[in-house]
Amino acid sequence: MASAEEANGNGSAPTPEDRRLLELSQRYAEEADKRRREDGLAQFERLQESGSARLRALAQDPWADHAALNARRAVPDGATHKFVILGAGYGGLLFAVRLLAAGVARGPDDILLVDAAGGFGGTWYWNRYPGLRCDIESYSYMPLLEETGYMPASKYATGAELRAHADRIAARWRLQDRALFRANATAARWDDAAQRWTVDVTEGRGPEGQSRALKLHARYLLLAPGIITSPHVPRIPGLASFAGPLFHTARWDYAVTGGSETAAVLPGLEGKRVGVLGTGATTIQVVPRLASSAKELYVFQRTPSAVSWRGHRATDPEEWRTKIASKPGWQRERMLNLDLFLTNAAKEGQENMVADGWTEMPAYSAIIGSPSHGIIEPTPDKIAAHVARLYKLDLAHTEAVRARTESIVQNPETAAKLKAWYPTWCKRPCFSDEYLQAFNLPNVHLVDTDGRGVEAATERGLVVAGQEYPLDVLVLSTGYVTPRIGDGSPAARTGIGIHGRHGTSLDDKWQRQGASTLHGVCSHGFPNLFFAPMGQSSQAANNILTLEVASEHVVHCIRVAEARAGAGAVVEVTSAAEEAWALEIAKHAAWFAGVAGCTPGYITSEGEGWTQPTDQREMMKQARGANLSGGMESYIKVLQEYWAEGSLKGMDVTPATAGMDGRNLRFPTSEEH
Ligand SMILES: Cc1cc2nc3c(=O)[nH]c(=O)nc-3n(C[C@H](O)[C@H](O)[C@H](O)COP(=O)(O)OP(=O)(O)OC[C@H]3O[C@@H](n4cnc5c(N)ncnc54)[C@H](O)[C@@H]3O)c2cc1C
Repeated sequence: MASAEEANGNGSAPTPEDRRLLELSQRYAEEADKRRREDGLAQFERLQESGSARLRALAQDPWADHAALNARRAVPDGATHKFVILGAGYGGLLFAVRLLAAGVARGPDDILLVDAAGGFGGTWYWNRYPGLRCDIESYSYMPLLEETGYMPASKYATGAELRAHADRIAARWRLQDRALFRANATAARWDDAAQRWTVDVTEGRGPEGQSRALKLHARYLLLAPGIITSPHVPRIPGLASFAGPLFHTARWDYAVTGGSETAAVLPGLEGKRVGVLGTGATTIQVVPRLASSAKELYVFQRTPSAVSWRGHRATDPEEWRTKIASKPGWQRERMLNLDLFLTNAAKEGQENMVADGWTEMPAYSAIIGSPSHGIIEPTPDKIAAHVARLYKLDLAHTEAVRARTESIVQNPETAAKLKAWYPTWCKRPCFSDEYLQAFNLPNVHLVDTDGRGVEAATERGLVVAGQEYPLDVLVLSTGYVTPRIGDGSPAARTGIGIHGRHGTSLDDKWQRQGASTLHGVCSHGFPNLFFAPMGQSSQAANNILTLEVASEHVVHCIRVAEARAGAGAVVEVTSAAEEAWALEIAKHAAWFAGVAGCTPGYITSEGEGWTQPTDQREMMKQARGANLSGGMESYIKVLQEYWAEGSLKGMDVTPATAGMDGRNLRFPTSEEH
């Protein structure tokens, strides 16, 4: 925004609000500039691939029960499965449950879930840090609550409860023995003659065991690799030389801290100087626990999170029975109700079922879309007016969050440094009634780096602005590799090479032409491959809503294909259909222009993903990777119309000519494997 006239989006004389908006947009730009770096995403390294053996080791699984897993019946090398699902988190489980419900999987034996983890749960398997809870309320977030009849203990479930729920789902649908754990998938290749996928997998057997390489064959390959799975760390010079214990929050080291996920105090930190690096959504949950345990806690901040109120409480069984879970279909209705508020689509008088901080930020629609607006034309003036509208929509909320910070944090200097100077949609919004309060404790110290980040690490601690902060323990709360790596290719997101017909690489396809899918879930040249979507679809703030809708769609496609062409049908989107969908999506891209001014971080791929390309081809590539500007409601509408039409329009469906073993058309049972 160059002027106060522009701030009001209509060119009329500026009001005090317009002036404030102008001030804010200038401040936001200044703050973003401080954080922009030439090296973009390269300022981080994936823990698993670190050049330092010490940092690499931090990615290892601390939780797997190797003795129990080694005692399980081995999954045979070279066996063929009807469905292989990569990822055994909520996404993978939802795929499995929907396949079973639709009858395309005749039973659990038709399915094999594969995960690098030692158990079900994905995010909730890996993350066990103290204070961990879902940030979307559990009644909307925990999948399949109606089907399992489970009542969450509280409005925001703990990590342990979320993990137990994944086990509950696996048990309810008899999937416990249909998972290959500790198994890293490294490549997948379509075999046109055998009409099946071959997935290369390395199965770990624990520190004493010899890992095992095996090939899994699958008629259908489904990817549910998650959106933030792979922990990364900033390339801070000397990080690995820190002499004390250090670990990433995604692999919490209770041997160092003592205590547990739910304990209020971590006895191992008594008398210790603890540093926590990073101030994203995880840190907001962790800091209160560290503050009550450490002698001194240093919180190293590059960009503050915007922290709203939480209002956490135990579930009232009466309210649950009579209000929340009172009728069939309540959970989807609740998810969509939350989505209405987040997409700025709630009408006057609309009941607010969730009624938490999420429902107070309609400007979050900047990154998830809104059904209340049409398509934004991609002209500079229309885009500027749209962004100005979003800033205006965001104003009351961001000002309230900054005022809240000021009212809670007693030291005005600290309060000023904890204020977020970017629009709500630029960083995962946070909610806590304990985080900001922790900075009033005498043992908690904010080390603000004014956007520059930590300069170096030494044997003794971290260095900021030339000053060394001595530490005994260092907690790396530094986040995850963005799912937008590799231009958002599902293969890059899964960390594997995927080769379809004629050996075509999925990553190469994305790099060459940008996202190319129908409805975000399948791509031409990659028959019988389906994936949880990232682009060309819709991403709700509640990731489970996205995963539910996508799994229903994928299973619909397989069910209709099999009804038409028999079991094991080969289904593949046509090139024309995916191009038409990509062009449709590109029309929606201008909606997301508000992200361009964001402070670098996860959402902007550290500023790389949203720079304005000057080259036409690059611009088109970027536009194709967008989502529907109408948000989840419009995605569901598109899918429902597609389902009602019933013919799998834009998909080629052919009967299987080769069977599961590549020779006949019979699917073997698990006993025969
Ligand atoms: C700390 C934290 C808190 C979160 N809180 C929320 C929240 O409150 N609300 C919300 O909507 N979202 C939240 N998220 C996002 C969360 O990841 C999703 O909500 C959800 O759990 C995704 O489920 P998923 O099954 O798709 O992916 P994940 O849970 O990430 O599971 C993916 C699994 O795939 C496996 N995998 C990936 N690649 C391979 C491979 N090549 N070989 C073998 N295995 C592989 C991984 O090991 C992992 O276990 C949070 C994320 C984190 C990290």
